Amino acid sequence: MIEINNVSKWYGDFRVLTECTTRVAAGEVVVVCGPSGSGKSTLIKCVNALEPFNEGSITVDGTSVGARGTSLPKLRARVGMVFQHFELFPHMSITDNLAIAQIKVLGRGRDEARQKGLALLDRVGLKAHADKFPGQLSGGQQQRVAIARALAMDPICMLFDEPTSALDPEMINEVLDVMVELAQEGMTMMCVTHEMGFARKVASRVIFMDHGHIVEDDDKDAFFGNPRSERARQFLDKIL
Ligand code: ADP
Ligand code: MG
Repeated sequence: MIEINNVSKWYGDFRVLTECTTRVAAGEVVVVCGPSGSGKSTLIKCVNALEPFNEGSITVDGTSVGARGTSLPKLRARVGMVFQHFELFPHMSITDNLAIAQIKVLGRGRDEARQKGLALLDRVGLKAHADKFPGQLSGGQQQRVAIARALAMDPICMLFDEPTSALDPEMINEVLDVMVELAQEGMTMMCVTHEMGFARKVASRVIFMDHGHIVEDDDKDAFFGNPRSERARQFLDKIL
């Protein structure tokens, strides 16, 4: 589903990604972890073309990201993304947040978009909040809306960038529960997270990044049981 081949990227003279290669098969859940500044966000942003890269190639379901002729709005609709800080539109109701891209990007009618949005709000347990504005919801609720908004586009895969790291501790699980459910339903997911409980429960593989390199890319049990690199070992010692 997602193929990342030898991707390198520079910010000026600073090399943020070095020859990153990995694959995410349909239905796989891959957790990406590593120290702050190691390039995790940059790598997943490259997958839906939020960041350009300088070398290598990325394809999503056979579509080349960044190639001329690839429509970015269509690509981003198919590759759902959930950020650390929710990024809901603050001046729009929850219903409108869920409907706008369905209407503008997919060309759905208002009613269809609204119905789809309500069904997804129901799924994340927030149907009663449809007419509120983002500022009236808790962080955990806003993040569940953000997930529902991405799902409204019928994505073929989902990218998460530390979706729980801006949340108060008591709200983390309500968001992780939605992600676990998605994973168990077979969604292809690439998740930057340090929630190792989530990784143990649903990840197929774990990628460990350091200084722009993919240092480990291993199945979950191998990664937790016996990380190959000293750097991953030290990292796990610190967060577990
Ligand atoms: P992570 O998500 O693992 O914390 P990032 O991908 O956000 O790491 O950042 C990787 C590195 O790239 C960091 O050193 C960061 O300071 C740098 N960086 C990120 N965005 C930019 C930018 N727009 N311009 C210059 N450097 C950046
Ligand atoms: Mg980051």
